[in-house]
Amino acid sequence: MGTISADFSGETVVVTGGSSGIGRAVALGFGDAGATVINADVRADAKDADAETPTHEAVEERGGTAAFVETDVSEPSQIESVIEGAREFGGVDVMVNNAGVHRSLEFLEVEPEDFDFVHGVNLRGAFFGTQLAAKDMIDRGVEGAIVNTSSTTAERAEWNHSHYAATKGGIQMLTRSAALELDGHGIRVNAVAPGPIATEIREGWADEARGAIEESDGLPSRAGTPADLRDAYLYLASEGAGYVTGETVWVDGGSSL
Ligand code: NAD
Repeated sequence: MGTISADFSGETVVVTGGSSGIGRAVALGFGDAGATVINADVRADAKDADAETPTHEAVEERGGTAAFVETDVSEPSQIESVIEGAREFGGVDVMVNNAGVHRSLEFLEVEPEDFDFVHGVNLRGAFFGTQLAAKDMIDRGVEGAIVNTSSTTAERAEWNHSHYAATKGGIQMLTRSAALELDGHGIRVNAVAPGPIATEIREGWADEARGAIEESDGLPSRAGTPADLRDAYLYLASEGAGYVTGETVWVDGGSSL
């Protein structure tokens, strides 16, 4: 199979939740493509066992430019600070709202605190990440791109996912609604919906995902890796996707079939 290459030289990309898993792979991908990358995460260190250096250092080791800003995306004022800080690097051109948390709970067990925690990071974080990045792009007259991280659970019910799935369904409609209202400003808003990806989004999930897939004879035939997701984000943020907005691209190894 062939390859496609990306060039984001001169652009500034904010990735929330860029320290680990999918966000780390996406941040490294934009860094390799020449962008200045700002990782906005609650922690600098990766959870991934194979990640020896924090993302911003890893981008720089590969010849790129990057910064880390300690950020809790459930607090809009902290997102605002990251976006304001990005002006030092020319201002945000691409916003990736990727930070996410998961608690595995049966529907009947979900407490209001679980609901608020998961919604605060996943949906409130993505909503205000999209809105605040768009306001800043409009103020600067920049026709930028926003890419949100959804999930196949946005459309497919799974056991123990109810409150998490509700956030991802919300992200899907946030993506469409914002795309509609921001199109006149030249800002595109899209999402990527990963299937089961071997990350430590909650402790033990990587092994659990691999194990469940080995036992099943359907699709996907293997658990995804963060690197499987990277190019979908680069594509949606690029000029090549200039006629794509409000869309959610599923990268799930066929699990939706
Ligand atoms: P991960 O835990 O490896 O990465 C999530 C990152 O978000 C971490 O670095 C974490 O520190 C950061 N984060 C958590 N709370 C935060 C907050 N309040 N503010 C800022 N950063 C915060 O998990 P991942 O699997 O890479 O998850 C990335 C995204 O992908 C999430 O939105 C998740 O819902 C989504 N997703 C994952 C899977 C999967 O199977 N792993 C499937 C579908 C969707």
